[in-house]
Amino acid sequence: MSLIKTVARVCQMTCGYRHNFYRDVLLASSYNFTRSSLSPNTIWKRNHSAIISPFEFDEVHDIHDGDRDAPLILPNNEAEFVIIGGGLMGLSLAFHLWRNLEELTPIKASKHLAPVIAVVERDPSLSKASSSLSCGGIRQQFSHPCNIKLSMKSTEYLKNIKLHLATAGQDIPDVQYNPQGYLFLATQNGADQLMTNYTTQIENGAKVMLMSQNKLKEVFPWMNVDGIELACYGLENEGWYDPWALMEALKIKLKSFGVRFVTGEVVGFKKKYASEQNPAGRVIASMPDGSRTEIAESVQGTYIKVQDIDKPVLVKSRGVCNCAGASSKTIAEMVGVGVENPSCDHPSVKAPLPVEPRKRYVYTVHCPDGPIFDCPMVVDPSGLYIRREGFGGHYICGMSPEDDNSVDHSNLDVDYDFFHEEVWPRLAHRIPAMEKLKLKSAWAGYYDYNTFDQNGVIGKHPYYWNFSFLTGFSGHGVQMAMGAAACLAEKLVTGPGELSKEIDVTPLGFERFIINRPVVEANIV
Ligand SMILES: Cc1cc2nc3c(=O)[nH]c(=O)nc-3n(C[C@H](O)[C@H](O)[C@H](O)COP(=O)(O)OP(=O)(O)OC[C@H]3O[C@@H](n4cnc5c(N)ncnc54)[C@H](O)[C@@H]3O)c2cc1C
Repeated sequence: MSLIKTVARVCQMTCGYRHNFYRDVLLASSYNFTRSSLSPNTIWKRNHSAIISPFEFDEVHDIHDGDRDAPLILPNNEAEFVIIGGGLMGLSLAFHLWRNLEELTPIKASKHLAPVIAVVERDPSLSKASSSLSCGGIRQQFSHPCNIKLSMKSTEYLKNIKLHLATAGQDIPDVQYNPQGYLFLATQNGADQLMTNYTTQIENGAKVMLMSQNKLKEVFPWMNVDGIELACYGLENEGWYDPWALMEALKIKLKSFGVRFVTGEVVGFKKKYASEQNPAGRVIASMPDGSRTEIAESVQGTYIKVQDIDKPVLVKSRGVCNCAGASSKTIAEMVGVGVENPSCDHPSVKAPLPVEPRKRYVYTVHCPDGPIFDCPMVVDPSGLYIRREGFGGHYICGMSPEDDNSVDHSNLDVDYDFFHEEVWPRLAHRIPAMEKLKLKSAWAGYYDYNTFDQNGVIGKHPYYWNFSFLTGFSGHGVQMAMGAAACLAEKLVTGPGELSKEIDVTPLGFERFIINRPVVEANIV
């Protein structure tokens, strides 16, 4: 113990360290010494601002702990917000955080006065990101009002994307928005649910219409309507767009704002007991099940492994946002979410983030005799979906496997048998012209699949109080990204405001995993 004290004092005197280093060293060391013999609460009372790091001091570059050789990957390796993941969620969140902060600070006068927002992405090519590999579909045809509104909000942004993302000296952004509508088909079994969904959608402002079997045949004569009782067609704000083009436009805009892009992999977090807002260590976390924990933890900094730098670099920040898509659970576990925590035995802290990678295939087919321009995004009662791709007789199609356990999710290899055995027969049944299609190509991508209720997770963790989520949207992330990010950014910067009144995303908070209250969505594709 005395050796550590001496080292800390010498370092403090010689290096002009930033605040609290000396105290942090002492508290961190005393925490390690006492951890095994005392109860978690006793440890906390003694060390209510102890620092926890997954690394030893000499295993990382931490300029705040006096590492004078620490390479700078950001100004002073500090940021207001660190966003993990540079896919559509991360980029959309950066955009809205900046917009919200702009209202509060003199950024307008000079972007150099702006708080730093850092987007950390391990693969800037985004070659395996779900956002790059998705089908870009947008629909309002959900059953839960929250999902309907989030999708509508995103479409509002997409329709006005030039206004939001045009940047001086750059091409006008074009996200190839095709407002062609979704067409949901239902057999007798599913007709009641389709009708209920329709009512909710209309109540929430969606422009959709119901079609009987006869009407369906009249409007889409190329379709085999056998067994179809009812259909619902989106008249406005539905269709598909190019998420890649949106990400490119966002990156250009964000760079013009001064948002920082860091190419690196997040490998861990430095945390602190008690919050800076509560240095006295009073009761902090009020859990959603009504109980309270005596302590809370905050994320002090993010360790980022950057190419050509020997050790992970620590970036301090006020908040950390988990936008890591299919890898979000790994990030959450690094913070401690869903992991046994020796300092807090409250059951709520043990709830994991239920988001996993689930492989989905998309097949491109060519069928010159197909419906071409007339083909909206058709969703068959069997789970099959198909839409046109361009105007040259190409289509993309796919469906989720009935049993996810039968799929090897460890790689992105395509299963061509799945097309021949499951997809094509359904396709040819619904659109007879597709008997004569030619399979041109295929790819696979990961859904950021929420195993709990297949819906997004928006908001802060109740215990790790400055760690928030924007993830788990399963098959409907690219259509909700802009809306969901706007909601989260408002909460993080100003607290609930105008947007919260318009869209209440509370049901989509992490708390639902703790109190076991799934958001039931009947229209999952
Ligand atoms: C085949 C397919 C079709 C789809 N179709 C649609 C559709 O039609 N409509 C729709 O709305 N949605 C669709 N989706 C879902 C949608 O693509 C996702 O919900 C959405 O893209 C998720 O965005 P994201 O930014 O969270 O994830 P991603 O785009 O995957 O981005 C996450 C990023 O985090 C990075 N990352 C992860 N871990 C780390 C780390 N430790 N350090 C640094 N970076 C890290 C990853 O490299 C990745 O680039 C589809 C998905 C698939 C796979």
